[in-house]
Amino acid sequence: MKSIVLASSNQGKLREFAQILAAFDFEVIPQSQLNVPDVPETGLSFVENALIKARNAAQHTSLPAMSDDSGIEVDALQGAPGIYSARFAGEKASDADNNKLLLEKLKDIPDEQRTARYHCVIVYMHHANDPMPLICQGTWEGRILHEPRGEHGFGYDPFFYVPTHQCASAELPPEVKNQLSHRGQALRILQTTLQSSFSS
Ligand code: IMP
Repeated sequence: MKSIVLASSNQGKLREFAQILAAFDFEVIPQSQLNVPDVPETGLSFVENALIKARNAAQHTSLPAMSDDSGIEVDALQGAPGIYSARFAGEKASDADNNKLLLEKLKDIPDEQRTARYHCVIVYMHHANDPMPLICQGTWEGRILHEPRGEHGFGYDPFFYVPTHQCASAELPPEVKNQLSHRGQALRILQTTLQSSFSS
C-alpha cells in the first residue's frame, strides 16, 4: 500500500481526510506522527501555501506529500479572512476567537449581503523537488449566520449557512458535509487522478 504524508496538524481537517479517504487504497500518515515541524505559511494564495506545506512535509520525510490550504472568503469583507482564516483573530486564535471577530465585523450587514464561500486547495507532490505537483481545488457557496447552529465540523461551520440544505454546515452529518464541501470536491479530484496513476 502506498504511504503519503499529510501536511496538516488541524484536527478538523485530519478527521475529514480520514473519513473521505477511508475507502481508498493508500495509507495517509499525519505529519505529526513523523515529527515534521509546521512551516510558516508565507504565500499570498491558497495554492502557494499548499505548495509550501506539501514541500516541507516531503522534504522532512522523503515520502510523497499531500497538503490542504483552505479558508473562507466573505464578500462584505472584500474577501477576508481568505488565506488568513486560521489566524483571523491573531496568530494563536481559536475557532471561537475567529468566529467572534467575524460576527463583530458583520454585525450591521443584512442577510442578503452576507454571502461567503469556502475554498480548498489540495496539493500532491511525488517528492520535494516535484516540478509538476497535482493541484486540486473545490469551492462551496454559503452565507454567514448571526447565531451558531449545529455541533459537527470545525472552524466556521456553525456560522456557515448552506442554502441548498437550509442549515448550517455544522448541522450536516459528516458524510453529507464531505459530499458537498470544498474539501470533499478537491479530494475526490485528487483521488481520481492518483488512483489512475497508481494503477498505470
Ligand atoms: P489553513 O490550515 O491555513 O489551511 O487554515 C484553514 C482554516 O480555514 C481553518 O482553520 C478554518 O478556520 C477555515 N476552514 C477551512 N475549511 C473549513 C471547513 O471545512 N469548515 C470550517 N472552517 C474551515
